[in-house]
Amino acid sequence: MQPVEPSNLATQPVGEAARVAEGVYQLKVPVPLPLVFVSVYLIQGDDGWTIVDAGYEYPDTYETWERGARSVGLDLGADVARIVVTHFHPDHIGAARWLQERTGAPVYMLEEEIPNARQVWESERSADLFTGDMIRHGMPPEMAEKAASGNRSGLRLPDDMRPLSAGGKLDLGGSAARVIHAPGHAEYQLMLHDERRGILYAADHLLLRITPNVGLWPESRPLPLARYLDSITGLRGLDAALILPGHGPVFHDLTGRIDELLAHHDERLDAMLATLTEGPRTPYEVSRVVFRGGLSGYQKVFALAETLAHLEHLEYQGRARRSEDGVVRYEATG
Ligand SMILES: [Zn+2]
Repeated sequence: MQPVEPSNLATQPVGEAARVAEGVYQLKVPVPLPLVFVSVYLIQGDDGWTIVDAGYEYPDTYETWERGARSVGLDLGADVARIVVTHFHPDHIGAARWLQERTGAPVYMLEEEIPNARQVWESERSADLFTGDMIRHGMPPEMAEKAASGNRSGLRLPDDMRPLSAGGKLDLGGSAARVIHAPGHAEYQLMLHDERRGILYAADHLLLRITPNVGLWPESRPLPLARYLDSITGLRGLDAALILPGHGPVFHDLTGRIDELLAHHDERLDAMLATLTEGPRTPYEVSRVVFRGGLSGYQKVFALAETLAHLEHLEYQGRARRSEDGVVRYEATG
């Protein structure tokens, strides 16, 4: 099987915009994270422009928006009809408040994501919950505390966020795009499917070169990996010839990429299981075996959450058993 190739579209450097379809532009907005940039989308319509995702809350984002919008003929102060945020992660929602104030346009998210975002970013207990959860899964307390301060602190959300329903339609540059619930990477993430133009705004649900982080977090509902795998399996054959993701290259072969991602998670489940054959291990220990190399504290947290999602899935499949005596451990069954 040939690996899915990146598109020739949207190969512009970080900080710049490129046209990816008639009236549709991608802007690569820098983020102070290992991902380097987040791709936001600007779609021209008769009633104004639609923006998909806002970027991280810091000055480089605002400068990039000002320059990028100008370069495609979009007047941020006058021309924006709506802002759609795909999910609550700080590289997508972070600058939403700034962008709302700058444009005067309403911000939309999947309806369940609105209370979820408020819970994560505005609840005082969020960081404590996060730290306790990481420690319970074997992470050294000092590392967990540092990670929580970076992952769960003080993001200013828009005061007004408006709900979208899964399965509903949204006007997108003269097309009616369908709102698709895309759980896994984030429980209430949405994608937009423009059937007329054959475009899927895939958020962080389907990425190329990198695999979307599917993690079990304190705020997660059980079995995010099962819901992720079900979701992408259900997207095979969807009528979309241009996939516009939140990070990494644009690509065209939707079903090919889905098959790669399904195979990747099968391999990863096997790799995790292989670490459990010599007795019980904490999820943190498993994460340090499976995700080798010099990871930053920030990356170790994502590795742990991803490990937890896979261990939970192995238990769901009957291949591993979970125990807890203050600290959680897993071992292989049989
Ligand atoms: Zn992202």
